[in-house]
Amino acid sequence: MTEQQIADNFERVRAEIAEAERAAGRAAGSVRLCAVSKFHPAQEVIAAMNAGQILFAENRVQEACEKFACIREAVHEEPQLHIIGSLQTNKVKKAVSVSSCIQSADREPLLAEIERQCAKLEKTIAIFFEIHTAEDTKSGYADSSELFRSAENCAKGMYPHIVPRGLMTMAPFTQEEKPVRDSFSSVRKLKEELNIRFPSLPIEELSMGMSADFKIAIEEGSTMVRIGTALFGARGY
Ligand SMILES: *Cc1c(COP(=O)(O)O)cnc(C)c1O
Repeated sequence: MTEQQIADNFERVRAEIAEAERAAGRAAGSVRLCAVSKFHPAQEVIAAMNAGQILFAENRVQEACEKFACIREAVHEEPQLHIIGSLQTNKVKKAVSVSSCIQSADREPLLAEIERQCAKLEKTIAIFFEIHTAEDTKSGYADSSELFRSAENCAKGMYPHIVPRGLMTMAPFTQEEKPVRDSFSSVRKLKEELNIRFPSLPIEELSMGMSADFKIAIEEGSTMVRIGTALFGARGY
Protein backbone atom coordinates (compact mmCIF):
# COMPACT_ATOMS: atom_id res chain seq x y z
CA MET A 1 0.00 0.00 0.00
CA THR A 2 1.29 3.50 -0.76
CA GLU A 3 1.95 6.13 1.89
CA GLN A 4 -0.98 8.16 0.53
CA GLN A 5 -3.38 5.21 0.71
CA ILE A 6 -2.35 4.58 4.31
CA ALA A 7 -2.82 8.26 5.19
CA ASP A 8 -6.29 8.17 3.57
CA ASN A 9 -7.21 5.03 5.50
CA PHE A 10 -6.20 6.60 8.81
CA GLU A 11 -8.26 9.67 8.03
CA ARG A 12 -11.30 7.56 7.13
CA VAL A 13 -11.05 5.26 10.16
CA ARG A 14 -10.53 8.18 12.55
CA ALA A 15 -13.64 9.84 11.12
CA GLU A 16 -15.61 6.60 11.53
CA ILE A 17 -14.49 6.30 15.15
CA ALA A 18 -15.51 9.93 15.80
CA GLU A 19 -18.89 9.28 14.19
CA ALA A 20 -19.40 6.10 16.25
CA GLU A 21 -18.50 8.00 19.45
CA ARG A 22 -21.04 10.66 18.57
CA ALA A 23 -23.75 8.18 17.62
CA ALA A 24 -23.25 6.29 20.90
CA GLY A 25 -23.37 9.47 22.98
CA ARG A 26 -19.73 9.06 24.00
CA ALA A 27 -17.34 11.98 24.51
CA ALA A 28 -15.24 12.96 21.49
CA GLY A 29 -11.79 11.41 21.82
CA SER A 30 -12.85 8.79 24.37
CA VAL A 31 -11.84 5.92 22.07
CA ARG A 32 -8.17 5.48 21.16
CA LEU A 33 -7.05 3.91 17.91
CA CYS A 34 -4.46 1.16 18.23
CA ALA A 35 -3.08 0.34 14.76
CA VAL A 36 -2.45 -3.40 14.32
CA SER A 37 0.60 -3.64 12.06
CA LYS A 38 1.23 -7.41 12.23
CA PHE A 39 2.39 -8.87 8.89
CA HIS A 40 2.90 -5.38 7.46
CA PRO A 41 6.41 -4.04 6.88
CA ALA A 42 8.25 -1.30 8.78
CA GLN A 43 7.73 1.10 5.83
CA GLU A 44 3.97 0.98 6.33
CA VAL A 45 4.28 1.65 10.05
CA ILE A 46 6.48 4.65 9.24
CA ALA A 47 3.82 5.85 6.77
CA ALA A 48 1.26 5.54 9.57
CA MET A 49 3.49 7.55 11.90
CA ASN A 50 3.75 10.22 9.22
CA ALA A 51 -0.06 10.25 9.30
CA GLY A 52 0.10 11.01 13.04
CA GLN A 53 -0.27 7.50 14.54
CA ILE A 54 1.86 6.66 17.60
CA LEU A 55 0.18 3.56 19.08
CA PHE A 56 0.67 0.19 17.36
CA ALA A 57 0.12 -3.46 18.20
CA GLU A 58 1.81 -6.65 17.08
CA ASN A 59 0.92 -10.24 17.87
CA ARG A 60 4.27 -11.98 17.35
CA VAL A 61 7.20 -10.96 19.52
CA GLN A 62 10.03 -11.83 17.15
CA GLU A 63 8.43 -9.96 14.25
CA ALA A 64 7.75 -6.98 16.52
CA CYS A 65 11.36 -6.79 17.75
CA GLU A 66 12.87 -6.78 14.29
CA LYS A 67 10.34 -4.39 12.79
CA PHE A 68 10.33 -1.87 15.62
CA ALA A 69 14.12 -1.80 15.85
CA CYS A 70 14.12 -0.58 12.20
CA ILE A 71 11.31 1.86 12.85
CA ARG A 72 12.92 3.38 15.94
CA GLU A 73 16.05 4.08 13.92
CA ALA A 74 14.11 5.74 11.11
CA VAL A 75 11.76 8.08 12.98
CA HIS A 76 12.13 10.96 15.43
CA GLU A 77 9.07 10.27 17.51
CA GLU A 78 8.99 7.21 19.74
CA PRO A 79 6.26 4.72 18.68
CA GLN A 80 4.28 2.96 21.39
CA LEU A 81 3.91 -0.78 20.99
CA HIS A 82 1.43 -3.15 22.60
CA ILE A 83 1.61 -6.92 22.36
CA ILE A 84 -1.78 -8.50 21.52
CA GLY A 85 -0.96 -12.09 20.58
CA SER A 86 -1.03 -15.06 22.89
CA LEU A 87 2.32 -15.12 24.62
CA GLN A 88 4.47 -18.11 25.48
CA THR A 89 6.43 -17.83 28.69
CA ASN A 90 9.78 -18.10 26.89
CA LYS A 91 8.95 -14.99 24.81
CA VAL A 92 8.19 -12.76 27.78
CA LYS A 93 11.70 -11.40 28.15
CA LYS A 94 11.67 -10.00 24.61
CA ALA A 95 8.02 -8.95 24.83
CA VAL A 96 8.57 -6.74 27.88
CA SER A 97 11.70 -5.20 26.43
CA VAL A 98 10.02 -4.12 23.17
CA SER A 99 6.56 -3.03 24.40
CA SER A 100 4.86 -0.78 26.93
CA CYS A 101 1.79 -2.97 27.39
CA ILE A 102 0.92 -6.66 27.15
CA GLN A 103 -2.76 -6.79 26.18
CA SER A 104 -2.80 -10.59 26.09
CA ALA A 105 -2.15 -11.34 29.78
CA ASP A 106 -4.29 -14.42 30.25
CA ARG A 107 -2.93 -16.62 33.05
CA GLU A 108 -1.26 -16.43 36.43
CA PRO A 109 2.09 -18.03 35.44
CA LEU A 110 2.42 -15.45 32.66
CA LEU A 111 2.01 -12.62 35.17
CA ALA A 112 4.71 -14.16 37.35
CA GLU A 113 7.11 -14.30 34.41
CA ILE A 114 6.29 -10.74 33.30
CA GLU A 115 7.03 -9.60 36.86
CA ARG A 116 10.32 -11.54 36.94
CA GLN A 117 11.57 -10.14 33.62
CA CYS A 118 10.45 -6.56 34.35
CA ALA A 119 12.15 -6.65 37.77
CA LYS A 120 15.43 -7.56 36.03
CA LEU A 121 15.02 -4.62 33.63
CA GLU A 122 13.78 -2.33 36.41
CA LYS A 123 10.86 -1.58 34.11
CA THR A 124 7.18 -1.18 34.95
CA ILE A 125 4.78 -2.47 32.32
CA ALA A 126 1.05 -2.13 31.75
CA ILE A 127 -1.08 -5.20 31.14
CA PHE A 128 -4.65 -5.82 30.05
CA PHE A 129 -6.30 -9.03 31.20
CA GLU A 130 -7.46 -10.83 28.06
CA ILE A 131 -10.93 -12.31 28.47
CA HIS A 132 -12.08 -15.36 26.52
CA THR A 133 -15.52 -14.64 25.06
CA ALA A 134 -15.56 -16.52 21.76
CA GLU A 135 -15.51 -20.22 20.92
CA ASP A 136 -13.27 -19.63 17.91
CA THR A 137 -10.31 -18.32 19.88
CA LYS A 138 -8.32 -20.13 22.54
CA SER A 139 -6.68 -17.31 24.41
CA GLY A 140 -7.95 -15.38 27.40
CA TYR A 141 -9.08 -16.09 30.94
CA ALA A 142 -11.96 -18.52 30.54
CA ASP A 143 -13.37 -18.36 34.05
CA SER A 144 -13.73 -15.34 36.22
CA SER A 145 -12.47 -17.00 39.41
CA GLU A 146 -8.99 -17.31 37.91
CA LEU A 147 -9.18 -13.72 36.68
CA PHE A 148 -10.20 -12.53 40.15
CA ARG A 149 -7.28 -14.45 41.65
CA SER A 150 -4.85 -12.64 39.32
CA ALA A 151 -6.44 -9.28 40.08
CA GLU A 152 -6.26 -10.02 43.80
CA ASN A 153 -2.57 -10.88 43.52
CA CYS A 154 -1.98 -7.56 41.75
CA ALA A 155 -3.95 -5.71 44.42
CA LYS A 156 -1.94 -7.46 47.17
CA GLY A 157 1.29 -6.14 45.66
CA MET A 158 2.63 -9.47 44.40
CA TYR A 159 3.61 -7.91 41.06
CA PRO A 160 5.15 -4.51 41.76
CA HIS A 161 6.35 -4.08 38.15
CA ILE A 162 2.92 -4.76 36.63
CA VAL A 163 0.11 -2.20 36.34
CA PRO A 164 -3.22 -3.76 35.29
CA ARG A 165 -4.83 -1.06 33.17
CA GLY A 166 -7.70 -2.78 31.42
CA LEU A 167 -9.41 -5.73 29.82
CA MET A 168 -9.11 -6.96 26.25
CA THR A 169 -11.25 -9.35 24.24
CA MET A 170 -11.84 -10.64 20.73
CA ALA A 171 -15.49 -11.13 19.84
CA PRO A 172 -16.64 -14.18 17.85
CA PHE A 173 -16.02 -13.99 14.08
CA THR A 174 -19.59 -13.84 12.82
CA GLN A 175 -21.84 -11.61 10.74
CA GLU A 176 -24.49 -11.84 13.44
CA GLU A 177 -24.57 -8.83 15.68
CA LYS A 178 -25.90 -10.31 18.91
CA PRO A 179 -23.03 -12.64 19.88
CA VAL A 180 -20.55 -9.84 19.13
CA ARG A 181 -22.46 -7.34 21.26
CA ASP A 182 -22.87 -9.90 24.07
CA SER A 183 -19.13 -10.52 24.08
CA PHE A 184 -18.34 -6.82 24.45
CA SER A 185 -21.03 -6.11 27.05
CA SER A 186 -19.96 -9.10 29.17
CA VAL A 187 -16.41 -7.73 29.30
CA ARG A 188 -17.69 -4.27 30.22
CA LYS A 189 -19.64 -5.83 33.10
CA LEU A 190 -16.59 -7.77 34.19
CA LYS A 191 -14.61 -4.52 34.32
CA GLU A 192 -17.31 -2.94 36.46
CA GLU A 193 -17.14 -5.92 38.82
CA LEU A 194 -13.35 -5.72 39.03
CA ASN A 195 -13.56 -1.98 39.74
CA ILE A 196 -15.88 -2.72 42.68
CA ARG A 197 -13.89 -5.66 44.05
CA PHE A 198 -10.44 -4.12 43.57
CA PRO A 199 -10.83 -0.33 43.74
CA SER A 200 -7.07 0.16 44.13
CA LEU A 201 -6.37 -1.28 40.65
CA PRO A 202 -6.40 1.27 37.78
CA ILE A 203 -8.47 -0.93 35.44
CA GLU A 204 -9.90 1.72 33.12
CA GLU A 205 -9.41 0.54 29.55
CA LEU A 206 -11.64 -1.73 27.47
CA SER A 207 -9.68 -2.88 24.42
CA MET A 208 -12.50 -4.14 22.23
CA GLY A 209 -13.31 -3.90 18.54
CA MET A 210 -11.48 -4.72 15.31
CA SER A 211 -12.03 -3.67 11.67
CA ALA A 212 -15.31 -5.56 11.33
CA ASP A 213 -16.92 -4.83 14.70
CA PHE A 214 -15.49 -1.62 16.17
CA LYS A 215 -18.73 0.35 15.89
CA ILE A 216 -20.54 -2.19 18.07
CA ALA A 217 -17.59 -2.16 20.48
CA ILE A 218 -17.79 1.64 20.79
CA GLU A 219 -21.52 1.38 21.56
CA GLU A 220 -20.63 -1.12 24.29
CA GLY A 221 -18.05 1.09 25.97
CA SER A 222 -14.74 0.33 24.25
CA THR A 223 -11.95 2.80 25.02
CA MET A 224 -9.45 1.31 22.55
CA VAL A 225 -10.12 -0.25 19.17
CA ARG A 226 -7.47 -2.50 17.60
CA ILE A 227 -7.66 -2.07 13.85
CA GLY A 228 -5.47 -3.69 11.22
CA THR A 229 -7.19 -4.53 7.93
CA ALA A 230 -9.13 -1.25 7.59
CA LEU A 231 -5.85 0.69 7.89
CA PHE A 232 -3.21 -1.43 6.17
CA GLY A 233 -5.28 -3.68 3.91
CA ALA A 234 -5.59 -7.46 3.95
CA ARG A 235 -2.74 -9.47 5.44
CA GLY A 236 -1.03 -11.96 3.18
CA TYR A 237 -1.22 -15.14 5.27
C1 LIG B 1 -5.13 -9.10 14.09
C2 LIG B 1 -5.78 -8.63 15.33
C3 LIG B 1 -6.55 -7.45 15.33
C4 LIG B 1 -6.86 -6.62 14.08
O1 LIG B 1 -7.80 -7.27 13.29
P1 LIG B 1 -8.40 -6.59 11.94
O2 LIG B 1 -9.61 -7.40 11.67
O3 LIG B 1 -7.35 -6.73 10.91
O4 LIG B 1 -8.72 -5.18 12.23
C5 LIG B 1 -7.07 -7.02 16.55
N1 LIG B 1 -6.85 -7.71 17.69
C6 LIG B 1 -6.13 -8.84 17.73
C7 LIG B 1 -5.93 -9.54 19.03
C8 LIG B 1 -5.57 -9.34 16.55
O5 LIG B 1 -4.86 -10.47 16.59
